[in-house]
Amino acid sequence: MKERREPCLSPLALKILEERYLLRDKERHVIETPYDMYRRVAETMGGQEKAPAEQKEWTERFLEGLLNLEWSPASPCLMNAGTPLQQLSACFVLDIEDSMESIFTTLKDAALIYKTGGGVGFHFGKLRERGALVSTTKGYSSGTVAWLKVYDTAVEAIAQGGKRRGAALGVLPVHHPDILSWIKAKAIDREITNFNLSVAITDEFIRAVDRDEYFTLSSPLGHSVRQIPARELWNELCYQAWSTGEPGLFFIDRANRDNPNPHFGRIYGGNPCSEFLAVPYSSCNLASINLEKHLRKLNGGWEFDWEKFRTTIHTVVRFLDNMIDANVLPLPKLQEMALATRPIGLGFMGLARVLKALELGYHTGEGRSFAQSMASFLRQEAEAASRALAGERGVYPAWSGSLWEKKGVRLRHSNLLSIAPTGTIATLTNTSWSLEPEFAPVYQRRILGGKVFWEMDPQLEEKLKELDLDTPELRQELEKKGSIQEIKGIPQEIKNVFVYSLDIKPADHLKMQAVIQEYVDGAISKTINLPASATVAEVAKAYRLAYDLGLKGCTVYRQGTRLDQVLSLTKTK
Ligand code: ADP
Repeated sequence: MKERREPCLSPLALKILEERYLLRDKERHVIETPYDMYRRVAETMGGQEKAPAEQKEWTERFLEGLLNLEWSPASPCLMNAGTPLQQLSACFVLDIEDSMESIFTTLKDAALIYKTGGGVGFHFGKLRERGALVSTTKGYSSGTVAWLKVYDTAVEAIAQGGKRRGAALGVLPVHHPDILSWIKAKAIDREITNFNLSVAITDEFIRAVDRDEYFTLSSPLGHSVRQIPARELWNELCYQAWSTGEPGLFFIDRANRDNPNPHFGRIYGGNPCSEFLAVPYSSCNLASINLEKHLRKLNGGWEFDWEKFRTTIHTVVRFLDNMIDANVLPLPKLQEMALATRPIGLGFMGLARVLKALELGYHTGEGRSFAQSMASFLRQEAEAASRALAGERGVYPAWSGSLWEKKGVRLRHSNLLSIAPTGTIATLTNTSWSLEPEFAPVYQRRILGGKVFWEMDPQLEEKLKELDLDTPELRQELEKKGSIQEIKGIPQEIKNVFVYSLDIKPADHLKMQAVIQEYVDGAISKTINLPASATVAEVAKAYRLAYDLGLKGCTVYRQGTRLDQVLSLTKTK
């Protein structure tokens, strides 16, 4: 064993680890350090290798990358690896059949998942609509929104005892008769706080909106219920998204065209942040590479280290493969599915930091061009790593009949890339969230428990110091404005590179998502940030562009429309 070396963590990262990740004894005293946590994780996955020498070698390799903050698995793995729980997956997709039995079986299944820190996406589309007849009682069904409330209350209660707030997603197809109440559910009932809502949008619906036609709402029981002007539904959907940030859209036909396992059924939705779209009872292990740690100094500037990136990709794919076998899922059905399809969700974080270091504007063609090269490289190497593992350990058991078999690609994993939000792990590794631009030059971050931390973009801080511009007055102005664009005295070349979330037009947010999506077999979790002044028409335009650009889903957020906003300025724009 090499010498103990504590990772170099920020005070905020240490605080988060101490509060929720590091193991505790019965008296709730913390009994490990961050080094111990990373070793526990590395040993769990290294221990899956066959021979003792390989176990040792891979444990050290995994540990090295983790301690250097070069990559990180998602939170459940950090929390549970090497513990009696040993549930390592962050993403789960469940389905609810149209029966009382199934409604409560799925809820029980979800309860077991939430206890272990996973997030669940539920498909509500098979449940009959409000007012439909219940044949056994001759009564009328309470409909999807009533069940959504039951689920939300249950998730709230279960997550109370866990380490995280419960994150849940409810998906309803656009042609479900309850769709209008679904869209408005959270605006009407403010107590629904654990669920995010999504609508599965079909190509047929988009066509009906384009042609200004009527669209048929049909019952899951088979009959059509009524017709509604497609544009009326679309406008309502965009209005609600403008007003509350929800529902998000999920482009279901696209997801099914890319379904790697069509022989296991249809994809109805994804996990809470929607980076993993899969057939019901699928789950996925996530890990994200910290791109910022793949920069190296060059003539006073920076360049991206592609060779190091390649090595990291191969290491993390192996780590994730081992994680599938080390994982203990709370239900036999989940375990069987995971072992048959072996999905992994490799992603990245720190893109915004890398773009700034390379002096490329996030909103520019050059910025997108780098992101595209990076995503294409990630895809190519992840596939190479999965192919190599298939050679060594065999293709995934359900490979026959899969989309990959059709393409003649022998892989160890049915899913490879998923771009997760990295909400906590980017903070732990001290970088920017996944593919998101930085929120603002100076902002406050609320963590679980309501504590507030002030943060300044470290790259901007360095730049301002270099130029001798870092004064208390300037900081105050940055706090207020949330942007450097209108601040006098900052050179234009810096303004071109230091762009923040609200400086970036919705179309440019979407274009960044689109160039990356092209190489991602799974999906991307991204928020299209809009200023408070954005109109409903602008939300509609963003949603429509998301569809036209070939994205699998889209989430918008207009500043100030949610009370539980994680990042905020002192004064919202
Ligand atoms: P982290 O940074 O903590 O690893 P992410 O923000 O990348 O997590 O989220 C990855 C996935 O983890 C989400 O899509 C969701 O499925 C799950 N998840 C995130 N937050 C929660 C939560 N509070 N409770 C349950 N699951 C969660």
